[in-house]
Amino acid sequence: MMSENVLRAARYPFLPETREFVSRNIDLSLESLEKTGSEAALKRAVERVKNALIFKEVKVTALDELNYVREMLSFPIAIILVSMIMNEYVRRMYALGESRGAYRRMLNESDETLLYIGEKMGVGGVLDDENTIRVKIPTYLKLAYSFHAPHWKLVNRAVNNGYVSMGKTEYARLIQVEVNNYVYEKTLEPVPAGAVPDSFRRAVDEIVEVWGRLETGKASRVPLREREDTPPCIGRIIRRMENGENASHFERLVVATFMIARSRSIDEIIEFFSKQPDYKYSVTKYQVEHLAGIRGGGKKYSVPSCRTMLTNGLCYPDEYCKGIKHPLRYGEKNVAGEPRVP
Ligand code: SF4
Repeated sequence: MMSENVLRAARYPFLPETREFVSRNIDLSLESLEKTGSEAALKRAVERVKNALIFKEVKVTALDELNYVREMLSFPIAIILVSMIMNEYVRRMYALGESRGAYRRMLNESDETLLYIGEKMGVGGVLDDENTIRVKIPTYLKLAYSFHAPHWKLVNRAVNNGYVSMGKTEYARLIQVEVNNYVYEKTLEPVPAGAVPDSFRRAVDEIVEVWGRLETGKASRVPLREREDTPPCIGRIIRRMENGENASHFERLVVATFMIARSRSIDEIIEFFSKQPDYKYSVTKYQVEHLAGIRGGGKKYSVPSCRTMLTNGLCYPDEYCKGIKHPLRYGEKNVAGEPRVP
């Protein structure tokens, strides 16, 4: 009978035991992969990457777990495919999709399994008498630094004897960060071009085609970062966010208010924010509608002034910024066909 450990290895293919299983039982050389009936694993690997690009989450069903050899093998193959594409956005989206899927699955695990995964991923963590999980402060700071909600700040946490206490959900969130980092690092490893089988190249073409279709769908309007009335400070944040980088709370506010001011629809703005690692549809929708004045007291928030941007270390002026006090004034003269330099 299939052991629970094997199912767990298929459910979390980034764990060391999965790597051990694969290296013990399967010849992972690229030439061999093409010959030894890895077609199903390759197909599943393509599905993993497509899931990440389309749904921003790699789902693993009970049936996938039962096909455990295919499932375990599909993970390193997916990493090879993403490495071959050599695109930063695809790398980040794949890492995000794998880590998000793992996070959702971890929420259904027992304390024992969750602690096991945390330990294997280097997060550590011990269950105390009050049924909360404690993590060492340096580990907590390393993993939680990119979270912007106030409850993640160390000053707002219960800290005791060098440990930070948290519930299961928050602990799973920390592990998600580590999974994201692990997967992303793996996709940076170069794949020797000559050693790649043709079936892998075809798989890469299939993924690139899907990705191209997604990008074309989004490009029906001129991307804000390319519009000449987008100031360099905001274009810079937009570019980073497009690459899936985690923006600060203030940076998100700047971009959301700017998009609202440029008449982008609420749906477009939510879609843009969906690339953020901690994206949640309902939270994003609420916040964007709040900034647009659709909720709350009906107050519409404006884009912060140049002075506020400067104070927050986000002002990166170019020659067209001379004399302006507000990012929305950037490019006004240029749009009207007049020279922009004052
Ligand atoms: S001067 Fe204003 S518009 Fe220009 S980069 Fe700085 S904050 Fe942005």
